[in-house]
Amino acid sequence: MSDTQPNTNGSSRYFEPEEQTELLKRGLVRVSIAASGIDPLLDKRLNELRRALRSDAPAHLLGELLPDLERAVLTADQNRQQASSNTSKAVQQLIEQLQDCEPPREVSRALRALERQLGELAELPRKLPSLLEELQQLQQQTLQHSEEQGNSGLWSRLLRRKPRTEPEPELEPAPAPEQGPLIDDQAPALAIEAQAQEDILTAPPDETERPTDSASNISGEEQRFSQLAAHIESILLRLLAELQILETQQTARDRLREQVSKGLNWYELTAALDALCELVLGAQQSRQADFERYLLQLNERLFQFQGNLEEAQNSYSGSLDAERELSGAIRGQVQVLNDSVRDADDLSSLKANVEARLNSLLENIDKARELREARDSEVAERLSTMVERIQAMEVEAQTFRHHLEEQRQQALIDNLTGLANRSGLQQRMDEEFERWQRYGGRLLLVVLDVDHFKSINDRFGHLAGDKVLRLIAQQVSRRLRKTDFIGRFGGEEFVILMPGVSPEQGIVALEALRSGIEGTPFHFKSEPVPVTISLGFTEFIRDDSLDSAFDRADKAMYQAKELGRNRVVRAATP
Ligand code: GH3
Ligand code: MG
Ligand code: MG
Repeated sequence: MSDTQPNTNGSSRYFEPEEQTELLKRGLVRVSIAASGIDPLLDKRLNELRRALRSDAPAHLLGELLPDLERAVLTADQNRQQASSNTSKAVQQLIEQLQDCEPPREVSRALRALERQLGELAELPRKLPSLLEELQQLQQQTLQHSEEQGNSGLWSRLLRRKPRTEPEPELEPAPAPEQGPLIDDQAPALAIEAQAQEDILTAPPDETERPTDSASNISGEEQRFSQLAAHIESILLRLLAELQILETQQTARDRLREQVSKGLNWYELTAALDALCELVLGAQQSRQADFERYLLQLNERLFQFQGNLEEAQNSYSGSLDAERELSGAIRGQVQVLNDSVRDADDLSSLKANVEARLNSLLENIDKARELREARDSEVAERLSTMVERIQAMEVEAQTFRHHLEEQRQQALIDNLTGLANRSGLQQRMDEEFERWQRYGGRLLLVVLDVDHFKSINDRFGHLAGDKVLRLIAQQVSRRLRKTDFIGRFGGEEFVILMPGVSPEQGIVALEALRSGIEGTPFHFKSEPVPVTISLGFTEFIRDDSLDSAFDRADKAMYQAKELGRNRVVRAATP
């Protein structure tokens, strides 16, 4: 066999087969040297090959080396890929940690761009040096920024943190969010507003989801949480220790404290915070009630005080009149005396003397009266100013009480849906239950749960999910009677109370409610979002407690789920 090879001057030269073999061998030796240093096993095999080539080993001996060499190349390649993947993961973790420090927007964007480059594993070894250099600069900027923001505190940072999966606008340019009412009474369809495009493009992780116990399934969120857990626990314990609670809340506080001391994992944190929130709200509400009682007492006292003052004022004016009367009488008597003394002609000197004395006496009496009158009118003026002031205080106290009542009502309302929240619902359930116990009659309790709500969150994001909850609350409220009551029990569950309704009437009303929601065309952008609800209900029966009735309705709701959702189930009564 022979071949040609271009000369340096461009013309081709003919090679003898021996020369060709020699050239190939030399080429192989050089390539093997170039490929060294990647993997120890491959190095060994390449060494063997070089030795064989240099010692002019026959072709069949070279051939025998090839399978081992091939295997070594494959293994080296796999190792290289694995190493790239490990490097990529490590860098990714570093990027995530930096993102958690909430770097400035441009740094965050640059970090995401870096993160995208990590996906190209084949390019990674080549790009790694420049990538690390860039990462080092971004890290520096992030740390600098964190230091500047240093006093923001762990809690505020934790609470402000956005879900890691949230894509940034520049990944997918989003139109400005549409504002305005969601339900257009003119339009047949309900549009789910895209308030925050990011959240809608990718749903944040579901916090209520329980991860499996397998260590390999521990999410990044949990890992990050475990790094913070000790700190969070100590803050919670301090809060619990310093919290001023009621005597009746002590057991709940101790239980929570014990739970936190034992250590919280990622998904227990939400429940612990909920429990803490309930303690704080409970204590606050009770303190508010105490304050209201105090204001009422104060009001009563002020009222009495005002009455006393008015009496005092009246008696003062009375005594002034008496005084004036008295002085008039004295004047009359003195006048008589004066006349009679004047008529006594024979005693002229005495007359003059007595007349002068009586005149001066009259003058003195007049002066004394004037003085007393001036003083008394001053006191009376002062008194009436006091009465005015007290009246103003009373008005203030009234306004204050009104304001407190408003605040108390506010604490019973769910911010998202505008319906009663859990506390408001509990209060109304207590009232309705008491009424039912006292006067009898009919009372239905309904548990309503949105079907597959998690998947609405997953597909369209939590903000769209929130919007659906608001719309359902509106739609259901609209369809209820004035005497019915609906409150948000929690999450995507609602409770309805229907006084004076029989189970037969109830099933008709609830069926209309269910089909009304099913028939309402919810839309996210222009995509239809099917929304249905499952309802379980029960009638209060003899010996029922609130809990026992709730339990039955709740079970009936779960039965509705099991039967395929989007239906109403009446609880079986014992
Ligand atoms: P099912 O038909 O069995 O009821 O399924 P589901 O997905 O509705 O029920 P699941 O209990 O699995 O999920 C309820 C979800 O509701 C999980 C939770 O993240 C979500 N959720 C709870 N509260 C809120 C909220 O206030 N807003 C939003 N967007 N989602 C919430
Ligand atoms: Mg539910
Ligand atoms: Mg549900």
